[in-house]
Amino acid sequence: MKMSQAASVAGEILAESSKGYDLRPLSRKTREHLAKDFTAEERRVLLSQGTEPPFCGGLLDNKREGIYACRLCGLPLFSSKSKFNSGTGWPSFYEPFDPAHVKDIEDRSHGMLRVENRCGRCDSHLGHVFDDGPRPTGLRYCLNSVSMQFFDAGTEPPQHVEPLAGG
Ligand SMILES: [Zn+2]
Repeated sequence: MKMSQAASVAGEILAESSKGYDLRPLSRKTREHLAKDFTAEERRVLLSQGTEPPFCGGLLDNKREGIYACRLCGLPLFSSKSKFNSGTGWPSFYEPFDPAHVKDIEDRSHGMLRVENRCGRCDSHLGHVFDDGPRPTGLRYCLNSVSMQFFDAGTEPPQHVEPLAGG
């Protein structure tokens, strides 16, 4: 795959986010390798767009300061600063860590039109975003705990990126 130099055209896949994270998409092989120790529930949610039951996820009541990163590839998705209690039973945030880290995809499943969120690097399913969130964005990112891994402030999530060809 050809890497573009700091491409920033809207809709184009970026090689690197504004916060400096590698956003080159992961190959199927790399994703399978990273998911090899996943539980059945993790596979169902992250790889098959499943939804965990409400009030069950391990990160719902987490109030520590830090970063919520992608369970599969470690890309930072949300900061604890934007977490709020939505009352829905799923961890909720009003803005992503970096806009390029969380992708929006139109989802017409279950007879509804919703906006699905996927990881900006590995394409794993994260949850959905709705427009009934709090200020300043008015957005409510409704996440599956199982799609994320929490890292306390000061710790950097290990990054799993696509190996460079021939490297
Ligand atoms: Zn990811």
